[in-house]
Amino acid sequence: MLKSTKIKPQIITNLNINKIPKGTITRYWLEIVKDGMGVPVHVPIIIAKGKIKGKTAGLTAVVHGNELNGIPVIQRLFNEIDIQQLRGTIVGVPIINVPSFLRKKRRFLDGTDLNHIMPGKSNGTVSEVYAWRIVNKIIKHFDFLLDLHTASNGRVNSYYIRADMSDEVVRKMALLQNAQIIVHNPPNDGTLRGTADALEIPAITLEVGNPNLFQKGVIRDGLTGIHNLLSYLEMTDSEKEEPSSETVICKKSFWIYTDTGGLLTVYPEVTQLVKKGEKIATLRDVFGDVIKEYQSPEDGIVIGKSVSPVNQAGGRILHLGIVK
Ligand SMILES: [Zn+2]
Repeated sequence: MLKSTKIKPQIITNLNINKIPKGTITRYWLEIVKDGMGVPVHVPIIIAKGKIKGKTAGLTAVVHGNELNGIPVIQRLFNEIDIQQLRGTIVGVPIINVPSFLRKKRRFLDGTDLNHIMPGKSNGTVSEVYAWRIVNKIIKHFDFLLDLHTASNGRVNSYYIRADMSDEVVRKMALLQNAQIIVHNPPNDGTLRGTADALEIPAITLEVGNPNLFQKGVIRDGLTGIHNLLSYLEMTDSEKEEPSSETVICKKSFWIYTDTGGLLTVYPEVTQLVKKGEKIATLRDVFGDVIKEYQSPEDGIVIGKSVSPVNQAGGRILHLGIVK
């Protein structure tokens, strides 16, 4: 049940967490840029500030405008937090990329992937300035970051985590999420996770299901993992929930692509284990004749897969995780 306590958001141009009264949940519209009519573009922010001092945990969603499952994860977290007991501060940003969210598009207004150009530039292109302000107005306040994504259009994902498993804190953050799969992935330049890491903010990426949807199951799973982490950080007293099945940890992962064009059928489902040499996909021409069959190049686990049949040469088949 949602609590009926509606909190009126305040319009702000800068976030000053120190000024927020302790023991409150507050909502904000934070101005990031002005649009082409000179109208402010506001990012929604929810902040729960505990009565007792502690860390600041940040949650972000919709860096890609069509990746929606993170929104209800963040909304529900703030409905479930006991503000009387909270130690430290939780900052939730349900939509980072507002212009792309409104257009239902992955990419930013100028065609750029915002998660390839972080931390942006103070004096740069439309997307660079937006990215820069997101990092400097919001992300810099965090002690920990959980960035919530989903698969891209035409693909489906397991519930998996990208994390640098060689970092002790980040490893713990990843393991607490009860995900189906964790992929070891050093922080990449240009991503929000990489930018946080460069600012010495331990960060993980949660890949929570599929684009353009609210999916009940993964929303609940994502939320459970976040509660586990807050409890581990001693910000809350909630009890750790154990995973229903063991998390598979992959040392690396890669996509397998088609090398010619046609209509693609991919056989294994997400989280399925495949053997080296096992048939994973068939490509047919428009008359239904088989052009080519694809085999798995290694033993692995299916992290994500294409569900979009029409593929020019270079189309994605499946995202294979290598366990050992
Ligand atoms: Zn994404």
